[in-house]
Amino acid sequence: MAFEGLTDRLQKALSGLRRKGKVTDADLRETMREIRLALLEADVNFKVVKDFVRSVREKAAGAKVLDGLNPAQQIVSIVNDELTAMMGESAVELNKSPKIPTVIMMVGLQGAGKTTTAGKLALKLKNEQNARPLMIAADVYRPAAIDQLKSLGEQIDVPVFDMGTDVNPRDIVKAGMEKAAELKSDYVFIDAAGRLQIDEELMQELADVKDIAQPDEIMLVVDAMTGQNAVETAEGFNNRLDITGVVLTKLDGDTRGGAALSIRAVTGKPIKFVGQGEKMTDLDIFYPDRMASRILG
Ligand code: GDP
Repeated sequence: MAFEGLTDRLQKALSGLRRKGKVTDADLRETMREIRLALLEADVNFKVVKDFVRSVREKAAGAKVLDGLNPAQQIVSIVNDELTAMMGESAVELNKSPKIPTVIMMVGLQGAGKTTTAGKLALKLKNEQNARPLMIAADVYRPAAIDQLKSLGEQIDVPVFDMGTDVNPRDIVKAGMEKAAELKSDYVFIDAAGRLQIDEELMQELADVKDIAQPDEIMLVVDAMTGQNAVETAEGFNNRLDITGVVLTKLDGDTRGGAALSIRAVTGKPIKFVGQGEKMTDLDIFYPDRMASRILG
């Protein structure tokens, strides 16, 4: 499970404090030092850690917790609130267009889980809102991406529009949008191309697809297992495409997870969903407060 190491270390840091009846300024400083190291070791971005620690210190001083009853408990509660704030306060819903179709463009590096997540989201909308989505297969570079999307489509009974791999993604998306109008689809998912790393050609292609499809949501899919690279990736995609939301995948894996959790603070864009398994139903709404509680253990 993700965050195990972080949870252990945070619990250790805070339990030292809990054992003390009276907490001194030096105790608080030592606890914050341990929390800082725990976050850094879990790959939380260093700037985010710095802000986090400063904010906890300021809140503790402002509330004069060291003079009050139960200082340890109050500090735990401040840490919990700040962890929640770092991840975005509250859950943020999928953007929705006032008229159909709502267009969701899935972007991210190859292997992050774009195709899988498109299927998961389409199924969720189908189950919860009786939606009629269409998925457009525009990842013409990854071998078997189109077949994978088609097979997912069959599995969840959602139509997939594709033109094979020899057509330019811009033309596929243009034709796919026409198909969506014809089918009166209420949601369109564009499974856009990924690469092993960000390059200019990919970004230009994605920017063109964005112009053509005018998406309501540009959803960046990030593999939580990729450590510090996750933040760089998110900044790269956000700077160029102005993403509107993030899906963190593979949180079921054994990841330190902190980099992924820095994405909100670094890009300002909300994490909307988390992927916690390979099955089509393994997608959950991201609740920052619940995640903070899970991390604090
Ligand atoms: P794409 O290249 O971005 O389209 O990535 P894929 O959708 O093909 O996903 C790559 C691999 O990651 C596949 O084997 C997926 O089953 C797997 N995957 C995607 N999301 C999750 C997740 O939340 N948890 C786990 N364990 N595996 C996932």
